Amino acid sequence: MPVRPASPSVYAIDANDFLTHVSSEWLAFAIENHAGHLTRERVIGTSLWSHIAEPTTRYFYRTLLQLVRTTHGTVSLPVRGDAPDLRRFMQIRLTHRGDGSVELECAVQSQEPRLAVSLLDPSIPRSPETVTMCSWCKKVATPEWVEVEEAVGILRLFEKSCPPQVVHGICESCQADLLAQLTQLTLPAPVTPEPPQTAASAEIAEAAEAEEVADDSVVPGSNPE
Ligand SMILES: [Zn+2]
Repeated sequence: MPVRPASPSVYAIDANDFLTHVSSEWLAFAIENHAGHLTRERVIGTSLWSHIAEPTTRYFYRTLLQLVRTTHGTVSLPVRGDAPDLRRFMQIRLTHRGDGSVELECAVQSQEPRLAVSLLDPSIPRSPETVTMCSWCKKVATPEWVEVEEAVGILRLFEKSCPPQVVHGICESCQADLLAQLTQLTLPAPVTPEPPQTAASAEIAEAAEAEEVADDSVVPGSNPE
């Protein structure tokens, strides 16, 4: 049975990447994902990078943030935000809000219930072994990247008394997708400084302006005065 997606969760960072805002949906999402220790008081003022440890994931977030800040624009990407008993298909949107501050919105597009996967439950004790999970699509390296349920079978995790620790990376497929998205974003054209205006060039400009007004009057539907 499809589950109704919740409202988007939103958080914001300042120009130095410190959290300045988390929405109540973001806090509810944290509780739902066994991260209830992340209260508003505890996260506001902390660095975004204290919450993202893995180097490749950090690199992509840094690049995305740099791009939205440089272009003063928005970038939107699909991302998985699974819970042990839910496959959650999400869209993350980064928007520049002025002065280097960026708003990050995560919206659930759809979600599918499944049998709970213990590997994704942070409350379960771990063995010293590790598996690598893609931060972006939540696939697991077996070493081939597969959905988590498939990985449990391939790695025979069901035979172990407790699941291995999860370390995060970004799979080759997501790296390629992210790089393709990044190259689609174009930087604004450099601003050409206007030449200093002389008396003669001012006259030319005035003449050009007069012509423009004349041109406007012949545009169909325009309303010349
Ligand atoms: Zn991936």
